[in-house]
Amino acid sequence: MSSNPIRAAFEAQHKGNAQRRLTFGLTDRRQALDRLATTVRGNEKALITALKADLGRPEAEAILSDYLPVLQEIAHARRHLGAWMKPRRVWPTLATFGASGRVVPQPRGTCLIIAPWNFPFQLALGPVVSALAAGNAVILKPSEMTPATSALLKRLISETFPPDLVTVIEGGKEVAEELLALPFDHIFFTGSPAVGRIVMAAAAKTLASVTLELGGKSPVIVGPDANLRLAADWITFGKFLNAGQTCIAPDHLFVHDSVKDRFLTLLRARIARAYGTGEASPHLARIVTPAHAQRLAALIADAVQKGATTSGQQNGQEIGPHLIEGTTPDMRLNREEIFGPLLPIIPYQDEAEVVARINQGDKPLALYVFDRDQRRIDRILESTTSGGVGINLTLVQFTHGNLPFGGVNTSGIGAAHGHAGFRAFSHERAVLRNRFLLLPMLFPPYGPRTMQLIGLVKRVLG
Ligand code: NAD
Repeated sequence: MSSNPIRAAFEAQHKGNAQRRLTFGLTDRRQALDRLATTVRGNEKALITALKADLGRPEAEAILSDYLPVLQEIAHARRHLGAWMKPRRVWPTLATFGASGRVVPQPRGTCLIIAPWNFPFQLALGPVVSALAAGNAVILKPSEMTPATSALLKRLISETFPPDLVTVIEGGKEVAEELLALPFDHIFFTGSPAVGRIVMAAAAKTLASVTLELGGKSPVIVGPDANLRLAADWITFGKFLNAGQTCIAPDHLFVHDSVKDRFLTLLRARIARAYGTGEASPHLARIVTPAHAQRLAALIADAVQKGATTSGQQNGQEIGPHLIEGTTPDMRLNREEIFGPLLPIIPYQDEAEVVARINQGDKPLALYVFDRDQRRIDRILESTTSGGVGINLTLVQFTHGNLPFGGVNTSGIGAAHGHAGFRAFSHERAVLRNRFLLLPMLFPPYGPRTMQLIGLVKRVLG
C-alpha cells in the first residue's frame, strides 16, 4: 500500500477490487442508495447550517436546491435501477442474422468525482448516486471554496460507506491535480470550462472516460407575445436563486422592444417583492468569497465605465440584484460567464439578430424562451443549440429525472441525472451470441459460390 494518502485511497478502491465491483448487484446497490438516503435525511439540519456558513443560503433554498434534489435522485435511481441494469436486446442486422445481440451495462470501475462550490452538496452527491447505482467505487473531491459543506460531506460519507466503496478527499487545485494523475476508469467533473479543459487533458494521459458538466452564458429571450408576469416570476427565481451562482441561471436577457418597458416594470416590482431593494436580504444568498465578489464588482465597474447603467447595491459579499441596461458587446459582462446577480438587459427588434448572436458564442448550457407563439418558439429552437431548453420556465429542466442534463462542447460533454447519469457511469458492453449464423458460408477458401453469395448480399443492400 502506498504511503501517499491519495494514492493509498485510490489503491484501496482499485487494486483487486475490479472483480468485486462487477458482482456488485442490484441488492447491494439498492442497499448503498438506502444507506445514503438515511444519512442525508438524518443530517438535514447540519446541511442547512453548513450552507448558511458557506454561502449565506436561506433555509428554503438550502432545502430546495441541495437537500431535496439528492433525495429525489436517490429515489428515482432506486425505483428504476432494476430496469436500467437489465441487458437490452437488440435487433439483428443482415450480416448478423442468426445471432442474438444485447447491450449489458457494466460498472466503469473506480471513478473520480470533482465537484464545484455553488450547490456543493447536490453537485457532489448527485453524481455519487449515479455512480453507486451503476456499481462503481468513488473518490469524491468537493470544492475547497465551501469548507463547511466539504467537511460535512467527508463526515457523512465516512460514516456511511467503507472507504473502498466511497471516500471523500478534501483539497484544492493541488489535490485535484494529484488525483487526476491516477488511472481512474472515469472522471466526472462539474465546474468551469477552463478547468474542464485541464481535466480532459489529464484524462488524455490515462485515457479515462470523462463526463464534463461545465458552464457558460445561458441566454433568456422574452419575445413579443410572452406572458410578461410569468416571465418576470420565473426570471427572478432563475436569476437570483443562490445569488445568481447557478450554472443554468439566465446569464443575460434579450427582450423584444415592443414589450421592454412593460416587462422591466414588472421585473423590477417582482425583484423588489422577493428581495427588497438593498444589497442584502434574508431571501438572497451571499457571494461565496470576497474574491468572487470583487470579480462581480469589477464586471459592474467595467460596464458602468463603458456607459451602462444599473441601480443595484453591493456591500462586500452581499450583492443585490442588478439589472444592467445599455450594455455593449465589448463589456466584460457580455463576454464572460457572469455567475452572480447581475442581469444585462439587451433590447432587440429582429429575432434573427438574437439567434445570430447566440450562435456566434459558445454553445450555451441552457436557453430560455418566454413566448406564447409556438411557431416563434419552434423557429428559435430549430436555429440554435444548447445543452437544454426551458420554455416559459427557468431552471427546472435540471430537476426532471427523465431528462438528461448536460452541455454541448464548451458547456459540457456527456450528461447526468437519472438514466443518463447511470449510463455515464456504465460501460455498455456489446455481447453477440451465435445461434445459427450463416456467415461461415463466406469463409475461405473463396470460390465462385462465395462471389454468388456476395452478389446476393449486394443486391439486398441495394
Ligand atoms: P472550478 O472549475 O473553479 O472548480 C471546480 C472544481 O475543480 C473544484 O473542486 C476545484 O477544486 C477543482 N479545480 C480547480 N482548479 C483545478 C485544476 N487546475 N485542476 C483540477 N481541478 C481543479 O468551478 P467552480 O468555480 O467551483 O464552479 C463554477 C463553474 O462551474 C461555472 O462555470 C459554472 O457554470 C460551472 N458549473 C456547472 C454545472 C453543471 O452542472 N454544468 C454546475 C455547477 C457549476
